[in-house]
Amino acid sequence: MNDMTGFPPAWPAGVPEHGPIVLVDGDADWRAQAEQALRARGHEVVACDALAGLARMRLPRPAALLIVDAALAVPGWRAEAGAAGGPAFDAGLADCPVLLVVDAREGRLPEQALDGETTDFFVRSRHWALLVDRVRRQCRAARVERELRSRHDERARLEQDMERLISVDALTGLPNRNRFLALCTEAVSEARRAGHQVAVVAIDLDRFAQINESLGQVAGDEAICLVAERLGRGLARLAGSPDPGRDPVLARLPGDAFAVLLPWALDPWRLDEPVDALLQEIARPLTIAGTECFVTGCAGIALYPRDGDAAGLLLSHADSALADAKLRGSRSYRWYAPLPHADARARLKRVSGLHKALERGEFSLSYQPCVDVVRGTLIGVEALARWRHEDEIVPPAEFVPLAEQSGLIVPIGEWAVREASRQIRAWRDAGLRVPKVSVNISTLHFEKPSLAETVRAAIDAHRLEPGMLEIELTESCMVRDFGRTLGALQALRDLGVSLSLDDFGTGYSSLAYLTRLPIGKLKVDRSFVRMLGTSTQGEAVVRAIVALGRSLRLQVLAEGVETVAQARALLGMKCHAMQGFLLSRPVGAAQLPEAIDRIVERCRLASGGSPSARRVRAAATLQGVLQ
Ligand code: C2E
Ligand code: CA
Ligand code: CA
Repeated sequence: MNDMTGFPPAWPAGVPEHGPIVLVDGDADWRAQAEQALRARGHEVVACDALAGLARMRLPRPAALLIVDAALAVPGWRAEAGAAGGPAFDAGLADCPVLLVVDAREGRLPEQALDGETTDFFVRSRHWALLVDRVRRQCRAARVERELRSRHDERARLEQDMERLISVDALTGLPNRNRFLALCTEAVSEARRAGHQVAVVAIDLDRFAQINESLGQVAGDEAICLVAERLGRGLARLAGSPDPGRDPVLARLPGDAFAVLLPWALDPWRLDEPVDALLQEIARPLTIAGTECFVTGCAGIALYPRDGDAAGLLLSHADSALADAKLRGSRSYRWYAPLPHADARARLKRVSGLHKALERGEFSLSYQPCVDVVRGTLIGVEALARWRHEDEIVPPAEFVPLAEQSGLIVPIGEWAVREASRQIRAWRDAGLRVPKVSVNISTLHFEKPSLAETVRAAIDAHRLEPGMLEIELTESCMVRDFGRTLGALQALRDLGVSLSLDDFGTGYSSLAYLTRLPIGKLKVDRSFVRMLGTSTQGEAVVRAIVALGRSLRLQVLAEGVETVAQARALLGMKCHAMQGFLLSRPVGAAQLPEAIDRIVERCRLASGGSPSARRVRAAATLQGVLQ
């Protein structure tokens, strides 16, 4: 791809940010109106009716966006357009995003709608505001992408740093859990295509706490590094993979745990020996801080496809096999064995309880406030599902995975959207101003075409302004089927609903996707917030996320803020939007007004004066409240 300096001298130096929008469309009437609508918003537009028309066009500057009628965009169209326009024209289009105008009458998207040439699509309509919004977003994304690429001070490096921070373990330099899961997801997809197996081995050191206690944490860290080296060497000695591009992966998990990915499937009976060899390798004496130590470890093994078909599941099964191995003493390893009968029955009972839970009205929503602590205002509340089952509250961490496995997460998500909408209307009618309610929607749900319709129906039924509802999605959405997710997100955006990216930093996100998502908010995962004040890596990640969000003009909200120290650190990074136990736990709908009053009161003292003075006061008042 060309960068700015690669443009031919036909263009003046100091190319402005916004070049013209090139519109190629065969429908003369639609084209004229679209042109008018875009011009009315200050865009410069150059239009023609066919790709051949590009030859006659003179672009004053590189184009900001190319809008093309899908009917004209036959395979290879871009090369053809380049040829028609000549090299200077080609360079002017080299970097520009492409918005494809698709006819709704076709009933389905043409194949090229989201191929490598196309950035986005617009279903042909005369909703000019929508078109203008889509164009604005694409221009913005392209500009940010260009900036990220071309600016090597303060942003491109920031992106790299962040990618490193969220994927590398700071102590050993090995991939961390996130990165391991991402690589494992890739290996599983590849294995699915090629029809082979993938092994995941979880390794944990025995009685490692004793080393930390007797020799100190520095010695403990040294031991972890030595074990990492040994495991690395042991893996390098493993019989080579049939495909040299697919070497084993060693990752460090939190604490004294490691994980190994063997992406080329060995037959199970050929795995025992190398795993045993790795454990022997660890067990050789080590000299740490001048003292000879004996560190041993245990291992658990899970295999794709036999034990699971998703990275997270394989690692968790390898972990449960590891727990089993630990019971058998040091240096042992076990294969994952499916749940014993009784557990399987209990699980089945839960699933059948879950099936009936909706019709029995066993679900409710709790609401947790999200606050701008400097302004002292409520930004919105997050709706969190609660399941009351046989007199106990089953936490989402337990029922959400079950609901996802059984497909019930879709009706639960639909219910949550309806219930949150009903509640917004009830609060409104009672005179309580809750600016926004966000609902968590599972990745699986984004694959259902009905999602936007469910949301629209709920908004209509309760006469809501669509902006009062927000949908939270996680990064895993992007991994599964980016084209489809983007379509679903756009349908929601077109309704006017807000979108936010949840648990940011824990998924498998490629930052390149981020600029293309029509989201308005990033939620920094609480695992990073928890590290604030205790780890420089956590601090660096949060700082990088805040800077990245700001460069994309997104709101950045920190989740799971529990302590004043964390809030202070966030304020120091100018991250004012927070959610967490420090401000309020999730509460029932009836308790929300009181919770809001309490928070606003807490933050009230911070308001007024310059932003920096307000930040200092916000930190002080939060501190005071706790004492
Ligand atoms: P999440 O979307 O990240 O929601 C925030 C979770 O963090 C909530 O847990 C909340 O109670 C908890 N939390 C908030 N502040 C703090 C804090 O300061 N410290 C700590 N330690 N935790 C805090 P909860 O309600 O147990 O929900 C867990 C997860 O279950 C949610 O994580 C979300 O992924 C999922 N979930 C909850 N409700 C729904 C739902 O309606 N649909 C779907 N698909 N998922 C849901
Ligand atoms: Ca959430
Ligand atoms: Ca979250």
